[in-house]
Amino acid sequence: MASSAVLQDAPVVAAVLDAVRQVLGEPAQMLALHEPEFAGHEWDYVKECLDTGWVSSVGSYVDRFERDLCTFTGAAHAVATSNGTSALHICLLLAGVKPGDEVLMPALTFIATANAASYAGAVPHFVDSEAISLGVDAAKLDAHLREAARVVDGVCTNRHTGAIIRALVVMHVFGHPADLAALDEVARRWHLVLIEDAAESLGSSYHGRHTGNVGSLSALSFNGNKVVTTGGGGAVLTNDPALGRRAKHLTTTARTPHRWNFLHDEVGYNYRLPNLNAALGCAQLERLPSMVARKRRLAARYAAAFAPVDGVGFLREPAGTSSNYWLNAIVLDARQEARRDDLLTALNDANYMSRPAWTLMHKLPMYAACPRSDLTLAEQVEARIINLPSSSKLAD
Ligand SMILES: *Cc1c(COP(=O)(O)O)cnc(C)c1O
Repeated sequence: MASSAVLQDAPVVAAVLDAVRQVLGEPAQMLALHEPEFAGHEWDYVKECLDTGWVSSVGSYVDRFERDLCTFTGAAHAVATSNGTSALHICLLLAGVKPGDEVLMPALTFIATANAASYAGAVPHFVDSEAISLGVDAAKLDAHLREAARVVDGVCTNRHTGAIIRALVVMHVFGHPADLAALDEVARRWHLVLIEDAAESLGSSYHGRHTGNVGSLSALSFNGNKVVTTGGGGAVLTNDPALGRRAKHLTTTARTPHRWNFLHDEVGYNYRLPNLNAALGCAQLERLPSMVARKRRLAARYAAAFAPVDGVGFLREPAGTSSNYWLNAIVLDARQEARRDDLLTALNDANYMSRPAWTLMHKLPMYAACPRSDLTLAEQVEARIINLPSSSKLAD
């Protein structure tokens, strides 16, 4: 094997390869990190769109997809969008984020969270994560705000930059719910609108409630690598009827109803999900419970296989939550941190597609100058996490 030189001087590499082999066998071809699964009515529903001509941004599958999302998540309103990034952009606009405002968010996230703030003309303000969920650390955020912010007349401002801090975006990393109760409390204390980036957590719940129900607004993603895919797509969730109406209006070019006139009452966006994509989504949602159940079974097998491995932990759902285990992750001890790239090489060489976590946002050139708190834990996680193949079909 190509990695034999590495194996000799690193028992941890052999132990990790062995644990993954127990779960996934010895694949002849690369096992993807997350592959979509089309085993239900996908073909029928998409064909129906083509047969009837209803392929674009109006059609019965869009309405049904939104209803199904409400049923599944418990949210009162769902507005389907062209992707998760556009859903986040709309969430921020509806939260009242204005050009020049700051938006608190984790440094440990996918680029879409920060880009959405930029699209709204706002500045990301990066905060640290905690070790249990890898989501925003509520206690550390509160301490940071006590030093860096003040609230006057119900408006939170940054003492150092003078900018208004309007919102807090939290993210459910790899599907594991962040500590929403603590984060909601911090958001209320500091007069911040709480937004959940639930792009990775469809099918995950926090103390019995589906993620996306604690924030005033939440964003889902149905990109090809997510638990459920529409090819590309997203959704805004909210329990506030006025925000739900505004989300639909803003994503449909802010057009006001009229039999034939083109009337638009503000600058809107062409962000609606096409019917063709919604058709795929309806078929996918029918099988979401089965896919999540199998992903959880796969995670349980990884957890058992990694239990005896010294120096490597398997990332488990936080107590009181149920995770969709979108991406399975192992976390290396400090002692093994220097072995991360050896492990990535050995795993990928053996056809187990494996990836590190995202490069932290403040290390990217366009976000390097943004305000931020101490990011010690995020830095650790960035250096020590490895994601492993996580497709639902791998449980079979
Ligand atoms: C996937 C993802 C998004 C949205 O991505 P799109 O590709 O625009 O659908 C947003 N935030 C996070 C954390 C994600 O993982």
